[in-house]
Amino acid sequence: MAENKIWLSTPHMGGTEQKYIQEAFDSNWIAPIGLNLTVFEQNLENYLGLGNVAVLNSGTAAIHLGLILLGVESGDEVLCQSMTFSASANPILYLGATPVFIDSEPETWNLCPVALEAAIVDRIAKGKIPKVIIAVDLYGTPYKIEAIRAIAERYGIPILEDSAEALGSCYKGQKCGTFGDISVLSFNGGKVITTSGGGAIVANSAVLKQRAIFLATQAREETPHFEHTEIGYNYRMSNICAGIGRGQMEVLDAHVILRREMHEFYVGVFKDIAGVTVFTVPNDHFFSNYWLSTVLIDPKKTLGITREAMRLALEKANVESRPLWKPMHLQPVFRDFPYYGNAIAETLFANGLCLPSGSNLTEEDRSRIKAVVFNLFSA
Ligand SMILES: *Cc1c(COP(=O)(O)O)cnc(C)c1O
Repeated sequence: MAENKIWLSTPHMGGTEQKYIQEAFDSNWIAPIGLNLTVFEQNLENYLGLGNVAVLNSGTAAIHLGLILLGVESGDEVLCQSMTFSASANPILYLGATPVFIDSEPETWNLCPVALEAAIVDRIAKGKIPKVIIAVDLYGTPYKIEAIRAIAERYGIPILEDSAEALGSCYKGQKCGTFGDISVLSFNGGKVITTSGGGAIVANSAVLKQRAIFLATQAREETPHFEHTEIGYNYRMSNICAGIGRGQMEVLDAHVILRREMHEFYVGVFKDIAGVTVFTVPNDHFFSNYWLSTVLIDPKKTLGITREAMRLALEKANVESRPLWKPMHLQPVFRDFPYYGNAIAETLFANGLCLPSGSNLTEEDRSRIKAVVFNLFSA
């Protein structure tokens, strides 16, 4: 292949990460304990402005512990946005609980308040009050924070905010990752910042943060011998990975600006192409990091060019793109669980495409992407 592959989203180091890794080596804290962990957590707390952060070895682990901290047990029901990555839902099954999937609304692509409330009313009528609402900030865009919170309060159900894709996003000036009763971040390789693999719980008290760390480090009681009165997990982040995180925090704001510039770039590329809309937040209250830039393609208005035609044209030019997350209620593994809604998530999945969005894409990369699009739509 003549030209390098252009990926959806790849790690983008700032330059100081190895200094903090070296510090871990120099102090010999090559372990899930050490200064990098403490400082990375403080950095995140300062950045978010609210909340108590416990860093873990993945976002999935954070969702698992988050559900435990919110009291989910075997046999419980957990409401979950259908249009999301499977890691939002898998931990429900780890606990022997039942996921109940909810449709999206078209403005943010996140939880539809109407479908959510209809689901709650119906589950209660069937004899069960759902235990938790998992609300996702998909592709970096905040969900309808106030509408979902109002429903949560009305029925007394806590929210687990899955902000794995939304570090750096805000709603009315408040950072995503601080709206849940528990919120969750991810630092996997493709996210806005990465620790190679990692995640975090954002709790609303220091006590809850300590409890998360306790469960994440094998639930070991404070005794000379190893005493256990609860089931523990090995979910703590390594001090090496936290060193990468410290370095990444220094470039987080700059990288959010660059991701948002990629979104602007696509708005420009598609502005005169009928039938293709670049997803954009509904109003100024929503501030998205635009972790991934996404488009919706209406083949009725593009003279028959579909999402798949665009994906294949990009693939031919060695450019990665990907359909939106396939809704969970359409996944073979989750097909038998209840679903509430219409076909918004399904329609988004049928017509939506994620485009290369990294903070490290070059002018040349952008020219190549633009050329593919212009070729496809001028044919
Ligand atoms: C990435 C992601 C996760 C999982 O995070 P990991 O750190 O990869 O375990 C959870 N939910 C969403 C929406 C994600 O995009």
